[in-house]
Amino acid sequence: MQEMKTAGLILTAANLNDNDKIFTIQTRDAGKVTAISKGIRSHKHKDFAALQNFCYSDMVLSKKTGLYYVSSASVINNFFGIRNSVEQMSFAAYFADVIKSFPEELPLEDDYFNFVLNTLYLTGKAEQKCKDGDITEYLLRLKSVFEFKTVCFAGLMPSVTECESCGSKKDIEYFDTSSGGVICKNCHISSAGDLIRVTPTVLKLLNFLCNADYKSVFAYNGQESDVKIISHITEAYMINSLEMYPASLTYLKNTVSG
Ligand SMILES: [Zn+2]
Repeated sequence: MQEMKTAGLILTAANLNDNDKIFTIQTRDAGKVTAISKGIRSHKHKDFAALQNFCYSDMVLSKKTGLYYVSSASVINNFFGIRNSVEQMSFAAYFADVIKSFPEELPLEDDYFNFVLNTLYLTGKAEQKCKDGDITEYLLRLKSVFEFKTVCFAGLMPSVTECESCGSKKDIEYFDTSSGGVICKNCHISSAGDLIRVTPTVLKLLNFLCNADYKSVFAYNGQESDVKIISHITEAYMINSLEMYPASLTYLKNTVSG
């Protein structure tokens, strides 16, 4: 029996039978693992609190006949505030779903892993963090930050300063969500990409999202109308470039619009 000590984020949990559950865990040291916890469906189980969704926990995993089992787990942070509202839960589920959809073998660099944990932390703190009382707008900004940095982490940082067709730095008017580039006024008629109209202010904000590091990027803010445009851009570009459509996004959209 092989034992491994690591810290891990619970991405999903599913019932295996009357007593046990199976978890998808993003670990610090071994990428994504699937692990079983025996008897965890009982509230009295010693690891019950540490194996809830979105919990970040220290854990000991044992490998037996090719399967991981959770031997023990203790909470580092459960990001408790996420459970305050359906809206916060929906955003957190979406973030977890995106991480789950990443290629299995891709280990998350420490900086990016911490960024993911910070995203969940801020999701839980949305009420305290949004200055104008608009939680939805705060969470939409957080979602854009998360989507954009996730794409950058995957090595697909868009180029937002020069027209991808002619190289001009002038009159940039569109973002191409299929290629991750920008298009100038003159080239847009001949472009076959999925284009979203951008203003100089939107470009400036996109530039900030590209260049800010994993910590300072959370300062991203802008006018409501600009934030909305960027929200469309970051979502479409992440879906196109990572070729994923997390099931939880449909649920999230229904929650936000309803
Ligand atoms: Zn051009």
